[in-house]
Amino acid sequence: MAQVKLNHIYKRFGDVTAVSDFDLEIKDKEFLVLVGPSGCGKSTTLRMIAGLEEISEGKLYIGDRLVNDISPKDRDIAMVFQSYALYPHMSVYENMAFGLKLRRFGKEEIDARVKEAAKILDIEHLLDRKPKALSGGQRQRVALGRAIVREPQVFLMDEPLSNLDAKLRVQMRTEISKLHQRLETTVIYVTHDQTEAMTMGDRVVVMKDGVIQQVDTPDRIYHRPVNRFVAGFIGSPAMNFIDGRLVKEKGEVFFHAQNLNVKIPQGRVKTLQEKGYVGKDVVFGIRPEDLHDEPVFIEASTDSRVTLQVEIVENMGSEIYLYLKGITQDSIIARVKARNLFSPGSKVTLAFDMNKAHIFDKKTEETVF
Ligand code: ATP
Repeated sequence: MAQVKLNHIYKRFGDVTAVSDFDLEIKDKEFLVLVGPSGCGKSTTLRMIAGLEEISEGKLYIGDRLVNDISPKDRDIAMVFQSYALYPHMSVYENMAFGLKLRRFGKEEIDARVKEAAKILDIEHLLDRKPKALSGGQRQRVALGRAIVREPQVFLMDEPLSNLDAKLRVQMRTEISKLHQRLETTVIYVTHDQTEAMTMGDRVVVMKDGVIQQVDTPDRIYHRPVNRFVAGFIGSPAMNFIDGRLVKEKGEVFFHAQNLNVKIPQGRVKTLQEKGYVGKDVVFGIRPEDLHDEPVFIEASTDSRVTLQVEIVENMGSEIYLYLKGITQDSIIARVKARNLFSPGSKVTLAFDMNKAHIFDKKTEETVF
């Protein structure tokens, strides 16, 4: 069994606490993604699992074995780095065989494993080439191959796709997911790219300042973020945040900010009342795709629509991103179907899908709903 257990783990570099109280059990065969902005501690966490960084406090188990003091080579893991770290003077075959040779595997066993991995990765025809004669994507495959031949219990990957161009990145993303299904091993994958996190992870860990913010399935991270940070980090374009106040009018509760006055659905009012938010300043959050320009929606939304000025129009082909002025200092973004023509300076009426809206505590930034 290749579950990985991090038990209240800390990493301190002098005064800097890079990772704080990381407490998580990664299941056998799970694809777990660590995501967060630069400096949030994701690489340090991965490096501690790999044994490349000492753990300051806490216990790390791989399978049932406490591995805090076990050297990297004896941890039964293989790591794939952002810089593929291939040996330039060795052929693809030799690069893949190298780790096995060091571990004193027999020639035949090495040959069988290298050829099997090359087949899986579709690089059989490249085995005699040197790394410099390979494309970026091919080099990445060799780096993966070098990890696969080890048949480790756990794969650790640190931004393995970030040196590839956008198209290749998308392709390799699905290949790594397929590889995971085929090899049935545990994968811990670090990225700052939220699309990679959302598309590849069985579960996603969102980190900030060395602290886990949320561990959940991609779907729950997207639809039920625990705080404003997670809500804003996951999703592109990002969620719109609007500072304002919840006010009571004629038995209903409205969110009010400048010329925006939108009604909170009845089903959610109770939560706000019980938690004492009515009459208080809060942060309102709504994703760009939850602002609608369809006439049917707008007609039905008399108490949740607003007319705004179009500042910028970004045509994405099937969709349009509208940057709108009028509510907050920053523009708010709507993501609408490319049915209508919009031009900067014109006015547009949009309806808020209030069942999809979020409210965050202004001070703690935690999600109210
Ligand atoms: P990135 O995406 O930029 O790689 P990250 O989330 O992987 O970022 P880490 O590399 O884990 O972040 O770094 C976390 C924090 O620890 C940062 O503040 C970083 O400056 C600090 N840090 C990392 N390694 C060291 C070190 N060897 N000595 C001192 N501080 C370090």
